[in-house]
Parts: sequence; structure tokens; C-alpha cells
Amino acid sequence: MPQPNGDATRDQPRPQALSPGRSRNMQANRRVDSKPEIRLRSALHARGLRFRKDHRLDLPAARVRPDIVFTRRKVAVFVDGCFWHVCPVHGRQPTRNEWYWTPKLRRNIERDQRANAALQEAGWSVVRVWEHAGLEEAIQAVLTAVEHAPTVRDRSDSSGVVADRPTAQAAPAASRLP
Ligand SMILES: [Zn+2]
Repeated sequence: MPQPNGDATRDQPRPQALSPGRSRNMQANRRVDSKPEIRLRSALHARGLRFRKDHRLDLPAARVRPDIVFTRRKVAVFVDGCFWHVCPVHGRQPTRNEWYWTPKLRRNIERDQRANAALQEAGWSVVRVWEHAGLEEAIQAVLTAVEHAPTVRDRSDSSGVVADRPTAQAAPAASRLP
């Protein structure tokens, strides 16, 4: 039960999922290991690319956790779920439970924009692939970015991200590789 004097946001009940199909979709869109993400990682790995999965970058302007990180090339890849990140094709404004979803989706969009800006300021290339994109299209977007990015050799890199060697920070992400 909501408490009368409690925090308004916290005490609002979580809305029911909009539909059973949407509920499954939302679960599939969670940050870690969404299906399009797994397919893309597998395909890139099969092409011989090596990268970090779900690796947090502590940048001067923000902490970001791209889905796929090429540390030496400084390429950050996000696979964005159509609902959570409001894609132009499928990301329609929710009509039910609007009080809950609209601010949440707006915050997601703002977070994405802050992450992009923080990465770019620190010299990273950002690739955002929509969940609905075809696998080949997604692979090509990543390959293009990786091929065009210079290899980072300077270990005293001003972004604070040590690129060329394993670090204590990097170890947990690597250990989670399947
Ligand atoms: Zn979409």
C-alpha cells in the first residue's frame, strides 16, 4: 500500500504491462543480453573482431556502459531497443499509463544523448544500432566505424580509459563473457 506521506514517485504503483506481447518485448529489451545484441556480438566475434561486452567507461563527462566496446579503437556500440529508446519506426508514445512511461522514456532519450556527447568529447566513435535493424546492416555499421577509427596507442590517454592493456576495471566485464 502507498504510504500517505511517502515519496510520490516511489509510491506510485508500477503499471501493468501494456499487453502480454509488449511485456515479453520489454524483458527482451533489458540492458544485458537482449537478443539482437547477442546476435550482433556472435556475428562480430565470428568475423574475428574482439571487443568487450557491457564494459563501463568512466569518461570525464559521464559513466557509460555501451553494449560492445572496442577499447583500442575507441568505438562504442549500443543496440537500442525500439520501445525503451523510442525508435522512429516503432517507438510510439504510450497511450496507457502515460504518467509512468513518458517521463521514463524521455529520461532514456536524454541519457542516450548525454552518453553520446560524453563519448564524442572523449574521442570515441559511437555506433547506435536499432533493435529492428537487420543483422547485416548492424554488422556493416560496426565494421565501418572500427575500420575508420585509429588505433589508440597512447596509454596516458586523457579520457582516463586505459585502452591497450587489461585493467582491474576491465577484468569483471571480460570474465562475464560466455
Ligand atoms: Zn524500431
